Amino acid sequence: MYEDKTLTCKECGKEFVFTAGEQEFYAEKGFENEPQRCKECREARKNANRVERKLFTATCASCGGEAKVPFEPREDRPVYCSTCFAKMKEEQEGSSQSNVSSDSVM
Ligand SMILES: [Zn+2]
Ligand SMILES: [Zn+2]
Repeated sequence: MYEDKTLTCKECGKEFVFTAGEQEFYAEKGFENEPQRCKECREARKNANRVERKLFTATCASCGGEAKVPFEPREDRPVYCSTCFAKMKEEQEGSSQSNVSSDSVM
C-alpha cells in the first residue's frame, strides 16, 4: 500500500503532498520518478505548453464568430468555434441516442 508523501517542489520550493492515489497512478503508468513540482507549477507548465501551441484563427461557419483551431483551416472544410462545435457534438450525440431507442423493429 502507498502512503501520502510530502515532497518539495523544485520550481517554487513549496512542500506538496504526493498522495497515495497519485503514487499508485504513477506506478501504474510505469513512471519511475516522483513528481518534481507541486500541482500548481505542473498546471502552470501545462498551460504554458498549451499557449505555445500555434492556434489558427478562422471564422466560425455557424455563428460567424472567431474560431481558434489547432490546425490550419482549409477552405473546403467548415470551421466552428468551440461553442458551436460543442453544441453540434451534443446534438449529434442526442440524435444517435434517439436512433438507438427508436430502433426497436427487429
Ligand atoms: Zn511549485
Ligand atoms: Zn460559432
